[in-house]
Amino acid sequence: MNTVNNSQVAIVTGASRGIGAAVARRLANDGFAVAINYASSSKEADALVAELVAQGTKAMAVKADVSNADEVRAMFEATEQQLGKVDVLVNNAGVLKTVPLADTSDALYEQTFDINVRGTFNTLREAAARMNEGGRIINFSSTTLALNMPGYAIYNATKAAVEAFTHVFAKELRGRNITVNAVAPGPIATSLFLDGKTEEQIQTFAKMPPLQRLGQPEDIASVVSFLASPDAAWVNGQILRTNGGVA
Ligand code: NAP
Repeated sequence: MNTVNNSQVAIVTGASRGIGAAVARRLANDGFAVAINYASSSKEADALVAELVAQGTKAMAVKADVSNADEVRAMFEATEQQLGKVDVLVNNAGVLKTVPLADTSDALYEQTFDINVRGTFNTLREAAARMNEGGRIINFSSTTLALNMPGYAIYNATKAAVEAFTHVFAKELRGRNITVNAVAPGPIATSLFLDGKTEEQIQTFAKMPPLQRLGQPEDIASVVSFLASPDAAWVNGQILRTNGGVA
């Protein structure tokens, strides 16, 4: 708990809600100063910052649509000015709408690729120039990529791109002592997963892992915490499928 006294800085994208908020809380507890990125949920982001500051953590909310390169650049600049140079980047922001490929509109295709792929590209490109030596980058894929369920074609394609970025970027950062990994959660009880599903559908997903429950945001936050920690120094270019054993 607060072992490094906020001397190291983490940006968590999409940290106003869901998994990102749990990651921000966990990294704050681990001692990082945390930039809480959001696109529209300013009240939730501000409330989380107030919660973390009350615990003695340096934290700030930073509005930026990750799909916009200028806003991502401004997010890094604001973080550097208020908290310091970035040590950990968590590329958590993402969207999912399950629609059969044949019924997917151009707008949904573009939105999903813009946020999940271009958003990750924008932050990675910025991070390459700006992150401290010894830094950690944690991207977000999904276990749905291994399940190939109907309705997930576009989303899975975006997460396949994120996995490709992860493998290649880890090698491109040779000599910087920065690791690049991804977590690939299974079903986690957040609005991204729960919204639009019947109770019966939710229970079907909950029974899939041999551990027989839905994942919770904290299940993923603890894995991100590990990847950001000194203990994970030798883990690089890997995808960690954190899903209770679904696939
Ligand atoms: P969530 O509860 O819907 O939260 C999504 C977060 O992303 C929110 O904080 C949202 O902020 C932010 N966001 C959305 N669009 C953004 C943009 N353009 N720029 C910046 N932030 C943006 O989702 P979640 O379940 O926590 O998912 C987090 C990550 O885990 C995603 O990458 C998702 O694909 C992945 N994942 C989730 C599951 C699951 O079952 N939940 C499984 C596998 C992988 P605003 O409200 O401000 O827009």
